[in-house]
Amino acid sequence: MSDIIQLLPDHVANQIAAGEVVQRPSSVVKELIENAIDANATLIKLIIKDAGKVLIQVIDNGKGMSVTDARLSFERHATSKIKSADDLFNLHTKGFRGEALASIAAIAHIDLKTKQHNDDIGTHIKIEGSNTLSQDVIVTPTGTSIAVKNLFFNIPARRNFLKSNAVELRHIIDEFHRVSLAHPTISFTLHHNANELFNLPISNYRQRIVSVFGAKINEKLVPVKETTEILKLKGFIGKPEFAKKTRGEQFFFVNNRYIKSHYLNHAVSSAFEGLLKQGTHASYFLYLEVNPETIDINIHPTKTEIKFDDEHTLYAILRAAIKHSLGQFSIAPVLDFEHNSTLDTPYNYKNKQGVSNKLKIDVDSNFNPFKEEKQSLDPSFSKAATYKETPKASWESLYIESKSNTPEVKANDIRVETDEITASFFEADALATTKNTFQLHHKYVVNTIKSGLLIIDQQRAHQRILYEEFLQNITVKQGVSQQLLFPLQLEFTPNEIQILKSLSPQLAQTGFAFSKFSAETVECLGIPAILKETDVANVLEQLMSDIENEVPDTHFSQTDLLAKSLSKSLAIKTGQYLTKDEQEYILNRLFACKEPNISPTNKTTFITLLVTDIDKKFD
Ligand code: ADP
Ligand code: MG
Repeated sequence: MSDIIQLLPDHVANQIAAGEVVQRPSSVVKELIENAIDANATLIKLIIKDAGKVLIQVIDNGKGMSVTDARLSFERHATSKIKSADDLFNLHTKGFRGEALASIAAIAHIDLKTKQHNDDIGTHIKIEGSNTLSQDVIVTPTGTSIAVKNLFFNIPARRNFLKSNAVELRHIIDEFHRVSLAHPTISFTLHHNANELFNLPISNYRQRIVSVFGAKINEKLVPVKETTEILKLKGFIGKPEFAKKTRGEQFFFVNNRYIKSHYLNHAVSSAFEGLLKQGTHASYFLYLEVNPETIDINIHPTKTEIKFDDEHTLYAILRAAIKHSLGQFSIAPVLDFEHNSTLDTPYNYKNKQGVSNKLKIDVDSNFNPFKEEKQSLDPSFSKAATYKETPKASWESLYIESKSNTPEVKANDIRVETDEITASFFEADALATTKNTFQLHHKYVVNTIKSGLLIIDQQRAHQRILYEEFLQNITVKQGVSQQLLFPLQLEFTPNEIQILKSLSPQLAQTGFAFSKFSAETVECLGIPAILKETDVANVLEQLMSDIENEVPDTHFSQTDLLAKSLSKSLAIKTGQYLTKDEQEYILNRLFACKEPNISPTNKTTFITLLVTDIDKKFD
């Protein structure tokens, strides 16, 4: 029988390799940018058309290639980065396999222009599906420009497999984030269909994170730093209170290369244990430096997974360093027992008959867990419970005091307040009599009543109070707005802008005033009186995320969701110290609510401990 084994022709081998290296346009982006970095570029421009399906071009000012190298670079296993197998264990470059360009050239149209510093003229090569069409001299700046056009032109099945432009562009942007965050000393730009999406100047790590994710991330970052013999760690973690529902901003870089590691991610999560609300994820940007000999990055073709020699030690160091930072920057644990404070148990407001236009803050006569004892209640308590008018409370007093342990008062916090909110609830005669309230574990407001003890969950109670207030604002009586001295420029995704636009009539009722909607920005001129200017962006972001998670179908559920989201964001939290006045405020206002016994998410707001029950314990 004749021999049947034959060597695959190079172009076929390259196409097969391409299947591994190039899954989608973003893979090409990654390979080309990594090559530019390896060429010591300080400026890298990425130009994309139609999410990379039409064009992916990377222009760098790196060292360029000689005529021979330019030609050789498209050969398989052609690399300038390793010479022997030993070099594999001491890699300081991104590439080393020498197959990226060969693979890409096998499945696309390539236009390469390159020139080295000392040369006057450069080289221009055109390749289509591994076939070199032309090679000329060209006048071109020092560095390299590689344009990759019509990706997968000769593999229709792969081309058809590509996702929508939005999805493919998302992948490209993710790749761009990873590589640009790893290299703040290189300037990057990204253009998509003539729009400039990013323009990142040379900077440091922190500034780079800020240029990529926007100025508002700056205040959320807490530095992390640790140097040990086997690991140098630096970077930032996001403060727990800004943790997100999506896993978006989580980055590990090992020797300036983005990597994925479930194991190390676990180390970070465990350091955050007890600090995060369930279902949220902390952000992190962690840069690890280890001896290249102690890692193996060769185990995955696209090189995002690596193997460490001493994973357990790295885990322990990482966890300890993050805990230390969280502690040092006094991020006190916020023990949130209201784990499902998301909006998944919607308050059934719409089943309430005509409640939206009846919503006055006065005592619901149906309410009362101690109805039979109404007459015997502590006089001050019953007085509070029949408190009818709602003078606009000085919300400031509820906040300033309790936040005094965080140095939050900033010069740009100045705002213009309208007269309406100056009358303080606490000056009202409700205060004339002192009440026996105290705060337990920064969690509960406890009040003595005749029959025993009333224990109020401060966070849930305040949510209830705010919820009814916002509902009333939206449906009956416009809330008080504070005009901002300097309008805030807010940035959102185009989708969020649409949501914001559609909600803006209701938001206006709560005190928000928006103008100048553009594709991704909006100007905020006024905010609800209760809100602090510095919290505006977070509150609106939370609102967007709530709405995206629970797509409200009717106008009514939209209003309900809005009130719920705002009350959730703005309510005082468990763990917050409350002054006597604030404790009483919670007590009084809670029992002036329509439904004081449950939070907007149907959680119990208070319980009573009867003397008779206490007596039993002494039996
Ligand atoms: P690898 O990066 O693994 O070496 P590639 O196929 O990505 O393999 O690139 C092959 C070779 O082409 C590189 O080793 C490098 O010498 C050269 N090269 C590729 N891109 C550039 C660039 N932008 N500037 C200078 N040289 C480049
Ligand atoms: Mg490469």
